[in-house]
Amino acid sequence: MTNAANPIETEMEQDSAVYKTLLESTKAIPWKIDWATMKFAYIGPQIEELLGWTPESWATVDDWVQRMHPEDRDEVFNFCVAQSMAGTDHEADYRALTKDGSYVWIRDVVHVVRKENGEVEALVGFMFDISERKRNEARLVHLQKELEELSFKDGLTGVANRRMFDTIMTREWAHAKRSRKPISLIMLDIDYFKQYNDHYGHLQGDDCLKRVAQVLNSEAVRARDFLARFGGEEFALILPETDEEAAIKVAERCRKLILDQDIPHEKSEAGPQLTASLGVVTAIPADDDDPIAFIEQADKRLYAAKQEGRNRTEHA
Ligand code: GH3
Ligand code: MG
Ligand code: MG
Repeated sequence: MTNAANPIETEMEQDSAVYKTLLESTKAIPWKIDWATMKFAYIGPQIEELLGWTPESWATVDDWVQRMHPEDRDEVFNFCVAQSMAGTDHEADYRALTKDGSYVWIRDVVHVVRKENGEVEALVGFMFDISERKRNEARLVHLQKELEELSFKDGLTGVANRRMFDTIMTREWAHAKRSRKPISLIMLDIDYFKQYNDHYGHLQGDDCLKRVAQVLNSEAVRARDFLARFGGEEFALILPETDEEAAIKVAERCRKLILDQDIPHEKSEAGPQLTASLGVVTAIPADDDDPIAFIEQADKRLYAAKQEGRNRTEHA
C-alpha cells in the first residue's frame, strides 16, 4: 500500500504535463525569471528554433540583455525594470540577437507575479516573433514616403508642395525669358509660429496652416498664378506676367487677409493676432539668369521684413 501513487499528485502531474505540452507547442515562447536571483527558471525550447541559442544558455537576465540589439538595450531594460518594480504588467518590442549574428523582432509580454505581501516574486511572459509585422510596417512607411515624393500636393494643406513649386518655377522662368515679360514671386512666412505651436499645440498649428493656405489660394486668382507650400510655415506665390507694382498689391492683400482672419496669437510680439511677413521680387530674366538667385532675393526681402518688425511686405 505504501507504494501506491497518491491520486491527487498523479492528477497534478498529469495536468502539468498537459500544460508543458501546451506551452511548448505554441509559437510563442514562454519563460520565467526568478526576481530575487534574476535567473531564468524556465524558457521554452522553442527559443532555440527561433534564435539558435539553446534553452540552457539562457541563465540570467544578463543573457537576455546582452542578446538585445544595442540600440534597444538600455531603453527596453530600463523600461522593463521600472514596470516590474512597480508591479505593472507590460510589453516591449526589441530586436533579439540570433546565434548567427542577425536580429529578430520580438514582442515580450510580461506578467509580474507578486507575493502576498506585494513584493515581486517572479516575471513570467511570452516572447512573440513579430518580424513579419515589423517588416510590413517598415514597408508601409517606405511606401508612404515614396508616395509623398511622387506626389505634387502637400499632404496637410492640399496646396502644391515644394516639388511642384520647383517644376512650375522652372517652367515659368523659361517662359518669362522667352516672352520678356516680368515674373514676380512672393515669399510669405508666418510670424512667431514656433511660439504659436508651443502655446496652442501642434494640431492647432496645423489647422492654422490650412487656413492660411486657403486664404492665400483665394488670392491666386489668375489662371497661371501658383501657390505652393514652400516649407514648414512658408508659402510661395508665383505670379507670371506680373510687374512689381501689381505684385506688391497682391502681397499686401495677402498680408491683410491673414490679419483679417483674426486668428488669436497671444504669444506674438507683432500683435494680438496671427500675422505674416512677406518678401516680393520681380524680374524680367536675362538669358543667363537662373531662378535660384531670384528665389534667394525673395527670401532676403522676407528676412528684411522680419528684421523690420514683421507683419509687413518688403520689396525693392
Ligand atoms: P519668425 O517670426 O522669425 O518666422 O519665427 P517663427 O517662430 O515663425 O520661425 P521658426 O522658423 O523658428 O519656426 C517655424 C515653426 O514652424 C517651427 C515649426 O515647429 C513650425 N512648423 C513647421 N511645419 C509645421 C507643420 O507642418 N505644422 C505645425 N503645426 N508647425 C509647423
Ligand atoms: Mg515663421
Ligand atoms: Mg520659417
